[in-house]
Amino acid sequence: MVKLLLAALLLISTPLAVQAAPEGTSSAPTLEKIADNVWIHKSWRRIETWGLVLSQGLVVQTGNGVLLIDTAWNDADTDELLRLIESETGAAPKLAIATHAHGDKMGGMGTLHAYEIATIAHSLSNEVAPSRGLIPAKTSLHLKKGERHAQSASNGAVPFEVFYPGAGHSGDNIVFYYAPAKVLFGGCLIRPGESHNLGNTADGDVGHWAEAARSVAAAFPDAEIIIPSHGPMGGRALLDHTVALATKAAAEQ
Ligand SMILES: [Zn+2]
Repeated sequence: MVKLLLAALLLISTPLAVQAAPEGTSSAPTLEKIADNVWIHKSWRRIETWGLVLSQGLVVQTGNGVLLIDTAWNDADTDELLRLIESETGAAPKLAIATHAHGDKMGGMGTLHAYEIATIAHSLSNEVAPSRGLIPAKTSLHLKKGERHAQSASNGAVPFEVFYPGAGHSGDNIVFYYAPAKVLFGGCLIRPGESHNLGNTADGDVGHWAEAARSVAAAFPDAEIIIPSHGPMGGRALLDHTVALATKAAAEQ
């Protein structure tokens, strides 16, 4: 526990190392192990005026196969990511879950389907995906606000647990929890510690964001490692930080 907190604090204090693209000019995807059976994947996309934008997802090795949370930004980088995953874990993902319908989370769906990897997203994500130039996941999770879905490892299924807190960064954002390592992947709903604003709010609900972040904190009281899409992982302080940013933004609306 103490070790984990120290590691998290160290990561918070070195944001530049995580936000910058890897050494050299390469912006190819990377995979970094953060706990037993858990890796963060990173990919970068050059966005005008913002420069290279980091997006992170998760890879979890379960007893019933490898689980991928979110794709890389596009099909080519997702293809590269699959190679990294296979060389690191010995197998390609069996199942992928997308945490909402934006390019940084679902931009590589075509590659996943080309390799016949099973894909799941919230029904709202799959509905809106085509209008955003994205390919929907094969399976829809119909979750109402405040509902969670936990798939057990029985019958050989890849186990997973997701929660829909209602609108925040987007109307369809879900979070993923991996209990054995107490890792909560908050996606774009959760803001990095170094961030002073909510980031992209174009498809979001600023007025409901704080409540959504609070309900994630309440839903996963045991979570110790919190991972946002766009910056260093940290401890539960990232949840409070997000609530504070969202409360301030809502007041300024
Ligand atoms: Zn997004």
